[in-house]
Amino acid sequence: MTDYIPISALQHYLYCPRQCALIHLEQIWSENVHTAEGRHLHEKAHGNSAEKRGDFKVVTGLLLSSESLGLYGQADVVEFHKQNDRWHPYPVEYKRGGPKDIMADQVQLCAQAICLEEMLGENIDEGALFYGKNRRRQKVKMDAVLRERTQQTVAAVWEMLRQGRTPPKPTLEIANVICPSCSLVGDCMALTPRTSAAKYIQSIVKMVWSLYLTHCMSLPKTAIFARMVSAWHSIMKISLKEGFLYIPLEG
Ligand code: SF4
Repeated sequence: MTDYIPISALQHYLYCPRQCALIHLEQIWSENVHTAEGRHLHEKAHGNSAEKRGDFKVVTGLLLSSESLGLYGQADVVEFHKQNDRWHPYPVEYKRGGPKDIMADQVQLCAQAICLEEMLGENIDEGALFYGKNRRRQKVKMDAVLRERTQQTVAAVWEMLRQGRTPPKPTLEIANVICPSCSLVGDCMALTPRTSAAKYIQSIVKMVWSLYLTHCMSLPKTAIFARMVSAWHSIMKISLKEGFLYIPLEG
């Protein structure tokens, strides 16, 4: 285990602890349409540049670290506003989608702010999230609640990595909400521990079928197709390994 974890692990953990473990513990990573678009946006934002206009400076791709939290990462954009002869940092994180219910984006931004505070010796009381979907900038206050949440998330990720155990799959109800957008869906299913192979395969088939029925209308056909192929590939691999083939007869 390393002494530092990437800031992105916090976001992965809040989205799905199992996803976080698959990426940061088991070193599995798969790209899908969502991650590819997100990566493209971040590559544009992380262009390593600095621009100054009067009392305003913009730096992109700034490398970050925090010794106290054991975090490292890279900021999309850090604005610097000159106040009383001091350059005051203001982190801005770019997101391809829209605002989410979970606090993952806010926690990620707060972690960046804590890194900047440690690196620059400046207090940061606000930053912003820019959402590509509505092209809106949302201000985020670095208040005590958000800082506490960020520290709790860091501690939870460290604990999970220390234990070295990948959490189990969530319930079907939660999976229906989070798994359709997850690029690891195929790998995730293939790595599920199996006490009863038949039961396991059945749960995967139900999950894939349910994902398909729930989301086939809302996602691009190519994304659905890629995810279905990936999931079915996992099922076939396991079915053959276990020496049987399960044919789903019900939805
Ligand atoms: S497929 Fe679902 S359970 Fe598995 S890692 Fe992704 S979000 Fe988590």
